[in-house]
Amino acid sequence: MLFIDSHCHLHDSRIISNIPGIASRAGTANVRYMVSCATMEENFELTAKLSKQFPSIIPCFGIHPWFVDSISQRWKDRLEHYLLAYPSGIGETGIDFTDKTADRDVQVKVFEHHFMLARELERPINIHIRNAWDTFIHMLKKMGKLKVPGLIHSYSGSADMIPIFEKYGLYISFSGSVTNPKAKKVARALKGVSKERFVLETDTPDIYPYLSEPEENRLNEPKNLPAIARIASSRMGMGFEEFATHAHNNSLALFHPILEKKKGRE
Ligand SMILES: [Zn+2]
Repeated sequence: MLFIDSHCHLHDSRIISNIPGIASRAGTANVRYMVSCATMEENFELTAKLSKQFPSIIPCFGIHPWFVDSISQRWKDRLEHYLLAYPSGIGETGIDFTDKTADRDVQVKVFEHHFMLARELERPINIHIRNAWDTFIHMLKKMGKLKVPGLIHSYSGSADMIPIFEKYGLYISFSGSVTNPKAKKVARALKGVSKERFVLETDTPDIYPYLSEPEENRLNEPKNLPAIARIASSRMGMGFEEFATHAHNNSLALFHPILEKKKGRE
């Protein structure tokens, strides 16, 4: 059984010195690819470098909604430069209205630019939405369906919105938050998603899952993905093997445009 971690942050300063170990432990756990998302211009280069060094790392470039205040005058050029220079996806990008510091209008404008690039360059997009569902749905209606789809990472919305997102071609990504026995909303979301539309992620180094033998440092790693998948499958009510196969095939379909470009370079 193979796995793809559809959303993580391997550039993070808490783990950057351990990437060789993290990549090798991921490989041993059958985590075949790790989609590592940059969050601001400052970590574009590091994310690019990691993807050159480790063939299992798929880079995404974008400005995280928490960090829209950090953008330089040249952010659009820089973003496009990295997207064109590397087989890569777009993200992490999105809107987060729980964050009180980042200006909402700026968040929406920055996100819309990423969305437009996803359409123009036909790249998958890694989307972060928190407490901004109405604004997001309004935006989808305005901007329309993408040719190459994207994913909503660590889905925290309600089950009844899922058909809307599926209609727009989006995938729903589940993280270690599904392993929290108290998380009822996400369990309902797991039951509400089509089997062709869910993928899995760790959001490494964050969202440390509820594991039977937790590590002391509580820094998440892609190697934990199979354990997350096992718990998610039981909460969905699907056999582990069937669940993992769907998740893997769905991620392959989603990241297909990048994987094709990657192959062309190897
Ligand atoms: Zn993230």
